[in-house]
Amino acid sequence: MPNTTADVVIVGGGVMGCAIAYYLAKEGVKPVVLERSDIGGEASGSTGGGVRQSARNLKEMPLAMESIRMYGELHEELGMDMEYVREGNLRLCTNEQEMADMGKSVEKQQAAGLDLRMLDRKEVLEINPYIGEKVVGASYCPTDGHVNPFLVTYAYFLKAKSLGARFHTQEEVVAIKLQKGRVTAVVTDKQVIETDVVVNAAGVAGRKVANLVGLDIPLRPVFSEAMITEPYPPLFPQMFGHARGLFYGRQTVHGPFFWGGFVGTEQYIHREGKPLFHFIGPAISRAVLDYFPVLKDIHVIRMWSGLIAAMADGIPVLGFTEEVPGFIFCTGFSGHGFGLAPVIGLLLSQLVLDCTTSIPIGDFCYARFNQGGNEDCACQGSDICTTQAAVCPNKRQLVRNME
Ligand SMILES: Cc1cc2nc3c(=O)[nH]c(=O)nc-3n(C[C@H](O)[C@H](O)[C@H](O)COP(=O)(O)OP(=O)(O)OC[C@H]3O[C@@H](n4cnc5c(N)ncnc54)[C@H](O)[C@@H]3O)c2cc1C
Repeated sequence: MPNTTADVVIVGGGVMGCAIAYYLAKEGVKPVVLERSDIGGEASGSTGGGVRQSARNLKEMPLAMESIRMYGELHEELGMDMEYVREGNLRLCTNEQEMADMGKSVEKQQAAGLDLRMLDRKEVLEINPYIGEKVVGASYCPTDGHVNPFLVTYAYFLKAKSLGARFHTQEEVVAIKLQKGRVTAVVTDKQVIETDVVVNAAGVAGRKVANLVGLDIPLRPVFSEAMITEPYPPLFPQMFGHARGLFYGRQTVHGPFFWGGFVGTEQYIHREGKPLFHFIGPAISRAVLDYFPVLKDIHVIRMWSGLIAAMADGIPVLGFTEEVPGFIFCTGFSGHGFGLAPVIGLLLSQLVLDCTTSIPIGDFCYARFNQGGNEDCACQGSDICTTQAAVCPNKRQLVRNME
């Protein structure tokens, strides 16, 4: 097997792997990205492209707010129009109980600094006149929106590549070598790459990749189905969702409507990470039509499904681990990672480069599962850095000098 070397190896060419690769390459470090299928071939190519801050775990709020700011500038940064629409997100309620529950959640999100409010039915109709009679009110976050996920993933991929990141598709990571507990190499089905830093951005396979170094995380695949309709004249620009998360959707900038939902049938309908059947679509469509009767004659032209990397506590695992120096987690985005991609790409690149992040990520550490939670466990410029030795400043300077 051929042997090569890399400063950083990223497992997974989804939006996270591509974004991390871009922000690293921008700083002069040329990572190797290993992708077992194609760029954006799994969750990042199945996603709804909703880009929201609202209805998140409050721990994610600072990240989501920064990510939305970054999305506003991304077309300039990456040199591509990614069909980003920032026209708000409506989460629809159908009864007083849902309104009360949503109201409590909105108060907490407001306290976390998010511009978000509750609307009654009349106010909802002023924003979106096509909403059906079932809806009694909604939460509304005006700075949420949606984006074309293929373009975002590809824009990061292309820009990273142009800056020197190396991408290997159709190449699977099958082992990670350790020496005295530290990462020393990544083994694929085609080659061995010597490296002392590996980023696990393997999405729903993040648990399997963690298992390669003897770590485990409570991540399980959750099946989610999505579909797209024929094009329709522009009706409304907001992202919409259900108060209890049963479905979500939007109209794309080219006219087709996208919608999807959650069903919980994952235990028997996927093989090798790929879902096999598509049969929940009609149920989700009937629900959506109940809320948007105006769409009753529109035809669904394509359906697909994907797997969500769902963590037991609904938030991702990010950062170094004390157990395996050189191994970095970036997985478990639990069905709402796409909105975070820019900030995650940036923060993980900072972690690799400088052992610190401009927004704290301690809440997302691996140690929360085996040490009962530890705010300081993720690397934040502490002593842990010296044991982790990411891409040390000297090495980075060396790489830059060689350019
Ligand atoms: C149907 C659906 C709808 C969604 N809608 C939204 C939404 O509206 N808004 C939102 O914010 N989020 C949404 N999400 C979630 C979002 O898509 C994900 O959080 C995000 O795409 C995760 O990106 P990722 O790069 O971590 O994972 P992925 O895109 O899954 O990338 C991981 C990559 O790793 C590769 N890989 C795995 N193991 C190996 C290995 N051993 N060797 C090499 N490569 C490997 C895989 O092939 C894969 O391409 C949705 C997800 C689904 C499935």
